[in-house]
Amino acid sequence: MKITVLGTNGWFDTDTGSTNCVLLQTSDYSVIMDAGFGITKIKTRVDFSKPVYLFLTHLHLDHVIGLHALDYFNFEQPLRVITPIGGTDDLKDLLRSPFSAAWDSHVYPIEMIDAKNLEKTNLPFKVEALPLVHAVPDTGYRFEIDGKIIAFVIDTAYCENAVKLAKNADLLITECGFYPGTANTVSGHMTPETAAKLASDSNAKQTVLIHFGANAFETIDKRSRAVDTGRKVYPELIMGLDNMEFIL
Ligand SMILES: [Zn+2]
Ligand SMILES: [Zn+2]
Repeated sequence: MKITVLGTNGWFDTDTGSTNCVLLQTSDYSVIMDAGFGITKIKTRVDFSKPVYLFLTHLHLDHVIGLHALDYFNFEQPLRVITPIGGTDDLKDLLRSPFSAAWDSHVYPIEMIDAKNLEKTNLPFKVEALPLVHAVPDTGYRFEIDGKIIAFVIDTAYCENAVKLAKNADLLITECGFYPGTANTVSGHMTPETAAKLASDSNAKQTVLIHFGANAFETIDKRSRAVDTGRKVYPELIMGLDNMEFIL
């Protein structure tokens, strides 16, 4: 499978990248994780004739703002949107006039599935959803696809569920909203050092950082120096960049 990081910024788009979104592609379907403006790049990458599953961690705008562009994609099958645990009604409220096109008015149908009901949902892969620690309800995901574990643990403080989701992951995709030395658990974000601790404690085989807070990481060079601080704890820590690809 191929995993492409389409957006690595937190909060807003800048020259360093788009707001966060990750695309996972197999020969049978695509999985999209979060819908920052990075999602606009799926237009030329996704095979729209195959099923597409969009997993949302939470409803902060930098994770859903790209849904504003849904009209520009030609899904040939219903788009399955997995909403954060308990977040379906709030998402429907956001995806309606006058904020955007109504979620049920696109030329293709959208099917919303609350992450709390994933166990009852028939999907072509295994996925576990657990609540994380953030300023608003936030859901992390652990996918088991073609024998590989991919964990998507975004916008959270270090917590037990984050470690559980990332345990022995082949690829952990996680966040560092805060610059070294500035994290606090109330906002529910990590620094590169905390993210490195998560990677190490969960024994993740590969870990890539995304969701670099756009206000703190103004340049790629600043990102790079910050990620270096995490490498003291987890030497293989990867600095995410838009369009970076992983083959698992
Ligand atoms: Zn965010
Ligand atoms: Zn957030």
